[in-house]
Amino acid sequence: MSLNKLPQVDKILNLECFKTAIKPILANIVRDELEKQRELLKQGKDMLEFDKLTQLILQKYENFINKGLKRLINATGVVMHTNLARSVIDEQILSRAKDVITSYSNLEYNLNSGQRGNRYDYIGSLLSSLFGFEDALVVNNNASAVFLILNTFAKGGETIVSRGELVEIGGSFRVPDVMSASGSILKEVGTTNKTHLYDYENAINESTKMLLKVHRSNFDIVGFTRSVDISEISKLAKDRNLIEYYDLGSGYVGELNYNLGKDEPSIAKFSKVSLVSFSGDKLFGSVQAGIILGKRELIVKLRKNALLRMLRVDKVTLAILSESVKAYLNKEFELITTIKHINKELSSLENLANLINQNLKTPLEIVKTNTFVGGGSLPNKTYPSIALKVAGEAILNESIYRAEGIIGRIENEAFLLDLRSILDKDVKELIEKINKIESAK
Ligand SMILES: *Cc1c(COP(=O)(O)O)cnc(C)c1O
Repeated sequence: MSLNKLPQVDKILNLECFKTAIKPILANIVRDELEKQRELLKQGKDMLEFDKLTQLILQKYENFINKGLKRLINATGVVMHTNLARSVIDEQILSRAKDVITSYSNLEYNLNSGQRGNRYDYIGSLLSSLFGFEDALVVNNNASAVFLILNTFAKGGETIVSRGELVEIGGSFRVPDVMSASGSILKEVGTTNKTHLYDYENAINESTKMLLKVHRSNFDIVGFTRSVDISEISKLAKDRNLIEYYDLGSGYVGELNYNLGKDEPSIAKFSKVSLVSFSGDKLFGSVQAGIILGKRELIVKLRKNALLRMLRVDKVTLAILSESVKAYLNKEFELITTIKHINKELSSLENLANLINQNLKTPLEIVKTNTFVGGGSLPNKTYPSIALKVAGEAILNESIYRAEGIIGRIENEAFLLDLRSILDKDVKELIEKINKIESAK
């Protein structure tokens, strides 16, 4: 047994292949692996050859690096993919926000008075003007919005919700759980498929604080169904002196192509509702945030809840969100990447397919397909798309492309690169990588 056969840690750290590695992370991996080799030697066994050992360490280091945030090419066709970071921020939006993020700013300083200012005033005005509500507030995400609203207005009392709307959204957001954490008591009404206005009426008692409607973001109940429109709920709440709140989940501004819009609520339609909330990074197409819109007196109470301090958004979020809202107000819709891609005409995707093929050594088959919007909106509603079909074994192709940072989709046992979710800036790299992968086959 000779332990002095073990290589020095530094010898491995200084190898050319680790030139740009994060050294303390790499050093930990190297020490772990050397320890295992030391054990082998102690047991009288052979240790790995040096090249094999460095290969193993390189593999472990790459596995670690792959867990960090990395740019990917989304060729799934799902524009707002929950696992692929939902909405993409346009570079123009980011560059407009950049100066404020990289400098000191008036985040909590009123330049007109020279006094302490409020971080929510400006974004609140922008948002209420975009959507036609009296006032607005922004929190960390829509889950926080639901929590803050219930905690502020329904803590210790009952909140009435339709059984058909007790949703669970991916990533463990469950309406009943958020409700109990907020301190409000859930009062379910109706049945899974049908809820009537009289179900809400009959459930109201002296402990009732709020009528909640939740958008069914990621599933659909079809067949023999009935749910109560928010306008009816609003009217009932007004008559009984209660607050009504609509958790929209997603929601968009303006129009969507392909008749998608009729199934997903356009936010401005609800400006008479006491409170609504939705995610900043779903169809709205901006950063992670929970956007709350509603009556001024209610927004004022939300701002006074001490819990807001725990849910507050950073300047990075506020700066980017403000630029997205301004882009909407100025009708620069092409800067909202999510909306731009959902609305792309099929002909422009066909042109893109042809352009990519013209640059490929071996063109791929162009196929018509259908995709989903994703991100917990428009459940079960497909709309048309165009994809490039990669010849060969689908599961194998999926993993080869994934290793190059291209995430595609398997459909009918074929691996597809769906062009609906390909960004303009992805095109060049996509061409290079397809050429590289396919010529290596
Ligand atoms: C997505 C969603 C949420 C959670 O929103 P986050 O911004 O992800 O926290 C809450 N309610 C509904 C109906 C949703 O669709």
